[in-house]
Amino acid sequence: MRQIPEMFGELVFDDRVMRSTLSADVYRSLRKTIDEGEKLDISVANTVANAMKDWAVSKGATHYTHWFQPLTGVTAEKHDSFISQAPDGCVIMEFSGKELIRGEPDASSFPSGGLRATFEARGYTAWDPTSYAFIKGKTLCIPTAFCSYGGEALDKKTPLLRSMEALNRQALRILRLFGNTSVKHVSTSVGPEQEYFLIPRALYDQRLDLRLTGRTLFGTKAPKGQEMDDHYFGVIKPQVAAYMEDLNEELWKLGILAKTEHNEVAPSQHELAPIYTTTNLATDHNQLTMEIMQKVAARHDLVCLLHEKPFAGVNGSGKHNNWSMATDTGVNLLSPGKTPYENAQFLLFLCAVIQAVDDYQDLLRLSVATAGNDHRLGANEAPPAVVSMFLGDELNAVLEAIETDTPYHAQEKITMRLGVNVLPRFARDTTDRNRTSPFAFTGNKFEFRMLGSSNSIACANIMLNAAVAESLKIFADRLEGEENFEDALHALIQQTIRDHKRIIFNGNGYDDAWIREATEERGLLNYPTTPDCMPHLLDEKNVTMLTSHGVFTRAELDSRCEIMLENYCKSVVIEANTMLSMARTQILPAVERYSAALAESIAAKRCVDPTIRCASESERLHALCALADDISAKTKELDAGVAMVGRAADVIAEGYEIRDILLARMEDLRASCDEAETLTAKDYWPYPSYADLLFAAK
Ligand code: ADP
Ligand code: MG
Repeated sequence: MRQIPEMFGELVFDDRVMRSTLSADVYRSLRKTIDEGEKLDISVANTVANAMKDWAVSKGATHYTHWFQPLTGVTAEKHDSFISQAPDGCVIMEFSGKELIRGEPDASSFPSGGLRATFEARGYTAWDPTSYAFIKGKTLCIPTAFCSYGGEALDKKTPLLRSMEALNRQALRILRLFGNTSVKHVSTSVGPEQEYFLIPRALYDQRLDLRLTGRTLFGTKAPKGQEMDDHYFGVIKPQVAAYMEDLNEELWKLGILAKTEHNEVAPSQHELAPIYTTTNLATDHNQLTMEIMQKVAARHDLVCLLHEKPFAGVNGSGKHNNWSMATDTGVNLLSPGKTPYENAQFLLFLCAVIQAVDDYQDLLRLSVATAGNDHRLGANEAPPAVVSMFLGDELNAVLEAIETDTPYHAQEKITMRLGVNVLPRFARDTTDRNRTSPFAFTGNKFEFRMLGSSNSIACANIMLNAAVAESLKIFADRLEGEENFEDALHALIQQTIRDHKRIIFNGNGYDDAWIREATEERGLLNYPTTPDCMPHLLDEKNVTMLTSHGVFTRAELDSRCEIMLENYCKSVVIEANTMLSMARTQILPAVERYSAALAESIAAKRCVDPTIRCASESERLHALCALADDISAKTKELDAGVAMVGRAADVIAEGYEIRDILLARMEDLRASCDEAETLTAKDYWPYPSYADLLFAAK
């Protein structure tokens, strides 16, 4: 194998390549565009495009594409070759600055939630120079934003970039208040830990549910699940290790900092974590990682499942979003400092996050809401649907001391005067002891743990950045112009702790008693499902906050709410239809065939000797015949449920109906089918069992 430093980033048109292929002048103006958002001159763009094309062609590329992230949840690309015809009829390879900067895919079939009528269907894509171009296969991919002609965002990158900018603006105001004039930029960073399942392709191919919906819609629990905790951090089997090795190589070539890999809790479940990077890049990288995970799996005769809940009865998959804010001078604003001033600044940023999470629980919750993730949140394996924060004992004690003007360490007898007294040194709690918290402080970053494994991390980070920008804005508004900054700061922090401490919870998030306390005593929100939370995107307070920071327009919010609810409805309807198909064309026929074999066996035995014992077959036959009738009746009910879809007044009402009627009937049908599975001879059963799927790793 080649050395990692040599292959790392070899498929990326990164800073190294830019510097070696562009003239000093061109490099400088491109760098200005990347770092400071300065508009790119067209002649510079032409030179850059040409250098990019030459570099890509030298790596074997024949095509280019604007690579974007529409609201479908996956990435999109439309390839154009570099060829163009010269006046003499020869074919030459060309790529212009115009083609680099702007593209016009015929994008009429992407969801727009009413933002675009079909007659103005074309959207346009615009180069995001903050994310480097890269080569995938034979195609040069140019990361782009995707907008309508009216300028509305039709993708996830645009609002993400806007949210990062909003946070930057407000964080700079705060830093200036602390006398910091050297910082030019504050950006957010993310390290997303990605969970996934690997199962053999041959078995996957036999299951219509996995192929069409990404999860098993039927299946009895395997005799063994995850109860022995023997898979978590267990020895990685050779086939899986070979997969991981191959995957890492592909990721490294694309400049993705794949770092940590291990087995997860459920059998056949694994995790990959990269080293954290700027949120925008981390989002692009995570989308690419998910795509490459699936591609590499195919080479190993495996399938990578990214669904949040592929199997009932064992853990589903999530994505922990490790998030922090840092200055361009390299200071992590969520890192406790060494001097009183640094500590006060840290506490102010910490309080901004506390207030943001409390004020915008609903936005955080809905940013991770999908039909798939609904199966996870609150299922005693993932954080509950109630948002709360874990700070750790020490930090909690510090906040309590500030809140109540009481000494932090009884023996030291000092009260907390921010910016005046030296704060007692509190140890950074990096032990991450509370795995049940949806939003945990882990030493110098927050870990938002509600994301589903297939979610784009853009959605959660847009809301998180925007909400924190809002608290910072409120803080800056209040502190700017204060004569006694220290006093004002102290009062502000104290007030924030008092007003928002209800969101802090250090206990067991899986406990039912907590959900009661959270909702009844603390007034926290509990939105167990997507239809519960999604409509709150349009609550007045949320619209005001998001539009005031320029993260979304009102029209974009309307369209997103509609698209997310539509996605929910469509996903469940596809699942229901898949169940109907499997029950009617696979499960019932299997039960009937096996019942016939049992009946024949009983008849044949009785022919030989009427007194021969057939109790076992007969009991089973009775049970299976009853179940077959049951399954048949339940398919009719589910069918009737599916037929009702589309008749509700609006998509919100439809979401509720689908949740309450369709999902309930699907569960009913599954119960009977799964019971039939336990009574039917294995060689009659039409698809691989949970035991086959989950314990196949070699
Ligand atoms: P664990 O959560 O398993 O203890 P780590 O805390 O080391 O593991 O890292 C988990 C993820 O958090 C990694 O992707 C890592 O790069 C990322 N991470 C570490 N520090 C930061 C930070 N300051 N900001 C954002 N992400 C970070
Ligand atoms: Mg972690």
